[in-house]
Amino acid sequence: MSASDDDIPARLLAWYDRHARTLPWRSPPGAAAPEPYRVWLSEVMLQQTTTAAVAPYYAKFLARWPTVEALAAADDGDVMAAWAGLGYYSRARNLLAAARMVVERGGFPDTEEGLRQLPGVGAYIAAAVAAIAFGRRAVVVDANVERVVSRLFAIAEPLPASRKAIYERTGAITPASRAGDFAQAMMDLGATVCTPREPRCLLCPLSADCAARAEGEPGRYPVKAAKRAKPTRRGAALWIERERAVWLVRREGTGMLGGMRALPDDGWSARSDGSGVPDGEWEDAGVVRHGFTHFDLELAVHVSRTATPVGDGEWWPLDKLEEAGLPTLFAKAAARAGAR
Ligand code: SF4
Repeated sequence: MSASDDDIPARLLAWYDRHARTLPWRSPPGAAAPEPYRVWLSEVMLQQTTTAAVAPYYAKFLARWPTVEALAAADDGDVMAAWAGLGYYSRARNLLAAARMVVERGGFPDTEEGLRQLPGVGAYIAAAVAAIAFGRRAVVVDANVERVVSRLFAIAEPLPASRKAIYERTGAITPASRAGDFAQAMMDLGATVCTPREPRCLLCPLSADCAARAEGEPGRYPVKAAKRAKPTRRGAALWIERERAVWLVRREGTGMLGGMRALPDDGWSARSDGSGVPDGEWEDAGVVRHGFTHFDLELAVHVSRTATPVGDGEWWPLDKLEEAGLPTLFAKAAARAGAR
């Protein structure tokens, strides 16, 4: 660490004491740490998802399952339905499995290593929970921190290859005390000041330390490797209706959108198009488009009142469709079928 780097934690924590964001899962700067259940739940929800999108789900989960014990005892289908719309559904399956493991072992592990044994808890969540809930010195690097550190040290190597250097640089400025506040301060700096486009360097407590600012073009960091174009997959969703009810299936346990209620479909996947619409009289209700991480999907919606129900499922009353917990893709398809 250079002489200047030595001052980074103190400068950042002083800024955090005045400017910390108020978030439902947070304790104010310097206050007692929040319960590990709350930190873990919020961090699982926040993966790939914005704080604004997470806030209502976090409130709903805490109201319904206020403790890890309550969540561990929940019905799988209820949790999957409550997660509907938040996306990346493997997170909900792992959430339940982890809650049950925590209850079985008598509480949350309080080290990064122990936390990583929980389903769905990778390096980032383990470090965040260890630092924020247990006050451990842990190196916490999310996308915001990645951006701040890439700029602070003008790391020219492109992501994702630069992750190791970013982790090491973050480690070098992570203090032994107030590690949780430090992690949250870095996240807040990235979210509110060192923003992706047009960082507000004049308001930044680290502007004197920042190599990218000294170079004059901080927005060029973090350098990113050229993206490969996402493929577009095509599939069909089947809306089979009888007497004010629609046929819904539950998707396979660990596949895409696994465990969620859904319309039957033609077997499309990240790797291939679907097999097309089965024989019968189908009405074309148009196409819905949906972006997944690794591909875009064009899902043609087909409607029938006479087709034989497909797969293992149940007739679901149309006037209670909102309670089915359909993931966003199928909610869009249902809206398209209803609007024809
Ligand atoms: S000076 Fe600017 S680029 Fe550097 S960390 Fe602060 S906001 Fe980001």
